[in-house]
Amino acid sequence: MPIRSFFPTRIGTATLPRSRAALNSQLLRECLQLSRDDTAGIRWSRANYPGGFTSYASAHQMHRMSPTFARLQRWIDGQVRRFAKELEFDLGDKPLEMTDCWVNVMPTGVTHSLHLHPLSVVSGTYYVRVPRGAPGLKFEDPRLDRYMGSPPRRADAALRNRNWVVMPASPGGLLLFESWLRHEVVANQAATARISISFNYGWR
Ligand code: FE
Repeated sequence: MPIRSFFPTRIGTATLPRSRAALNSQLLRECLQLSRDDTAGIRWSRANYPGGFTSYASAHQMHRMSPTFARLQRWIDGQVRRFAKELEFDLGDKPLEMTDCWVNVMPTGVTHSLHLHPLSVVSGTYYVRVPRGAPGLKFEDPRLDRYMGSPPRRADAALRNRNWVVMPASPGGLLLFESWLRHEVVANQAATARISISFNYGWR
């Protein structure tokens, strides 16, 4: 029987070109520096991100504060344009713009529970440092709350039929998704910290 697929959930992937490896090294230095200097962020993380550091509630416009992050933003802008084109967004003359950009440092054992990114259109994460064994980004089927009596999926089910999927994270890698898509990071099992930069794009 022919079965057609509609309403797909799209996740964009890209990798920073090797020729720009120096940008990643500089980002790593600045992320580590920020995790030491951002006292407001350290305080906020202590209450809201146990064991880890995020500048989500403090230095959350890094693309406006650091020329290095601004360079990353210009690269991501191009990827977001491609993503929006693929999804056939009709944006008129108002492009999607990066509104927020923040740093996440996840040492061993730290998790980031299920969440979405309200008040945004496209969100994503760029991976600065991902030690071997550190987790990727786990996405949940956005229709999960409507499943009701739907049976579980076979353990070996095709990825397209599963209730969740984990996209691997690797240094220089970028993941893009629509901001309503719920996601989480399970506990970092690696011996060293996983470092990433997350961002939101808005349309106004
Ligand atoms: Fe997130």
